[in-house]
Amino acid sequence: MNTSQTMHIGLDDTDSTKGGCTTYLTAVLIEELKKFNVNYLDYPGLIRLNPNVPWKTRGNGALCLRFTYNIKFEEEIKDTAIKLWDKHSMAKEKGTDPGIVFLKMANIPPELTAFSKKAQTTIVNLKEAMVVVQKYGGEALGQNSCRGIIGATAAIGETLNCDHTYELIAYRKPENNGTKRQVDETSIFEMDKKTYPYTFNNVDVDTKRIIITPRGPDPILLGIRGETPEVVKEAFHLVKTIEPVERWVIFRSNQGTDAHLKHIKPLSKIEPYCSVIVNATVSQNPRVVPLRHIIFSVKDESREVDCAAYEPTGNLRKIAKELKVGDEVQVFGATHKATDIKPLTINLEKIGISKLTQIIRLENPVCPNCGKRLKSMGKTQGFRCEKCKEKFSNLKKKGTTTPRSIKLGLYVTSPRSQRHLTKPIRRYGQEKKNFTTRLIDNWNYVCPN
Ligand code: ATP
Repeated sequence: MNTSQTMHIGLDDTDSTKGGCTTYLTAVLIEELKKFNVNYLDYPGLIRLNPNVPWKTRGNGALCLRFTYNIKFEEEIKDTAIKLWDKHSMAKEKGTDPGIVFLKMANIPPELTAFSKKAQTTIVNLKEAMVVVQKYGGEALGQNSCRGIIGATAAIGETLNCDHTYELIAYRKPENNGTKRQVDETSIFEMDKKTYPYTFNNVDVDTKRIIITPRGPDPILLGIRGETPEVVKEAFHLVKTIEPVERWVIFRSNQGTDAHLKHIKPLSKIEPYCSVIVNATVSQNPRVVPLRHIIFSVKDESREVDCAAYEPTGNLRKIAKELKVGDEVQVFGATHKATDIKPLTINLEKIGISKLTQIIRLENPVCPNCGKRLKSMGKTQGFRCEKCKEKFSNLKKKGTTTPRSIKLGLYVTSPRSQRHLTKPIRRYGQEKKNFTTRLIDNWNYVCPN
């Protein structure tokens, strides 16, 4: 009799703005389940879902563990996971709606993967999640509104068979939570240089700020993102941590893959709370609105929408400011609902410029005798030279092309304002087409004391 089974555990929405962290809960659970001799089939999945859901705490991340186990431990495994999930859930906080999902099956069905893709790009509801969980004999537990079941289910459904990245997350000792994170900044800049281009979003070059350490009260000390498990581990060892590290784990993720963006055509099909890629033509020149944000409009044959490049988008804002009516662009970004004072707007993450319109300035011709610029005598009245006093009735205004200050190409928002899912320029050309399970030795670590 076969005593081995495969289990997938999905977890979400355990934290609040006051503390907690679902990745930390996952890291602790990984250790706890080792006593049942589980065999992990993959790195833990850190799946970022639609970044535009209005009820997210921070980055809308959901987690998943996949392993084989001896069926005699099944109840104890579930019990351990539920107890830990309960302990680490900030369920008393408003807006925290924890969810945990168990699914026992070797292969994830396409319907579940489709649900996950939908949760990464648009809004889904709890009923949809429960339909798939029940259809495949899964079990789901939730607290408060139970909304976390949506993310927990979606995390299980995303098997990251195509493009994916890795993140090594290191955690603080609990006694240090809430204090300033102690990491040597110079070593982070050096690590960034040494591991280029295989790690990303370590530093923001514009502001010379490090971005691998979060700011909030959560237990994360730092997170290093990269192309392979080996490189994120190497990068971590290059960083000098001043405070002690309690534990670290390498996650496999859809971060930095643009998984949230969906091609929409025509513009009239855009819906709010989604992330879109649209091809359009600039229809209104950029204008600067208070707080130095840039707004311009684009249109196609179906409608016109506004695009906003906010101040923290850095270089993207500078590029947006130079666009002109007639430029052909591909805009990438999150859609925001129209209000009484604001039309439907795309908050820009990237702009691709495929054609720059020529700016032609009409100038009066120069005098054929002395070369001085002629004066116009009025519409269709011809020109007059102020120096030679001669009149020229058959000369015409001459068009000269003003050079554009921007070039064709793809421009991405500054790292400090990038969403977790945004593919940074550094990753272009490194996209993966598949994944063959290969867990490196020591992909997680716990400090022995
Ligand atoms: P963190 O990144 O720190 O883990 P968070 O930003 O992920 O926090 P959550 O606390 O998990 O925020 O809240 C997001 C909530 O939205 C969860 O309950 C999740 O199940 C739900 N959710 C995620 N994606 C969707 C979606 N596409 N449609 C509807 N609900 C969603």
